[in-house]
Amino acid sequence: MMRLQFKAERVLAVVAHPDDAELLCAGTLARARHDGATIGICVLCRGDKGQPSQPLKNLAAVRRRETSASARLLGAELLLGDFADGTLQDGPAGRAKLVELYRKFKPTLVLAHPAEDYHPDHRAASALADAASWFCASRGHDTHSPALVSAPAVWWMDTMNMNGFEPGFYVDISDFLALKMQMLACHQSQLSRGKDADFSPLAELMRLQFRTRGMQAGVDGAEAFRAHSAFKRARAW
Ligand SMILES: [Zn+2]
Repeated sequence: MMRLQFKAERVLAVVAHPDDAELLCAGTLARARHDGATIGICVLCRGDKGQPSQPLKNLAAVRRRETSASARLLGAELLLGDFADGTLQDGPAGRAKLVELYRKFKPTLVLAHPAEDYHPDHRAASALADAASWFCASRGHDTHSPALVSAPAVWWMDTMNMNGFEPGFYVDISDFLALKMQMLACHQSQLSRGKDADFSPLAELMRLQFRTRGMQAGVDGAEAFRAHSAFKRARAW
């Protein structure tokens, strides 16, 4: 049985929106941090279109504050892509930005949305995270910072509500469920949307998901992943 030890890792979650890391991988980040790993969250979009029914004028600024508060609770470095919601695409600009962010943070492990995700921004983030995981270690791709010596390993994260995602393995996050809930609670602009007819109650969805993944894996709470098996992004654990 695989026994994960994150102590020497630098783990970077690359997500599309300000609350995605909380929903899909915060327990694993917390566990990595507990082991002694350095952890970061890269949020590619500003979250500027996640409007509650009573619209907030300065939503992007509100969400930046919510995200910072959550990252502080976790002890994670926060990296911002600053793209507008709904505009994220795999392309030269996004790749160059993310390659430079990787070269600054120097991840040994990247957690990214899977290609089969339900949300177009998540799928674009997935393609970008994958492309950057190759180019960050390629000296021919010039950015401000030097190329990394080796490409990071990549794990695909679960999807919201687990639709269409076939887990490869589970990370036991039973000791970090309260922290994961506290981090999500920082995103009040989104939790307030739980009453909107067109939006899902996030805290309840998240609890159901880590309990279900936990039940599948025989623990109180878990997050599901699948390892990217591509050349130089696969690693033995
Ligand atoms: Zn999202």
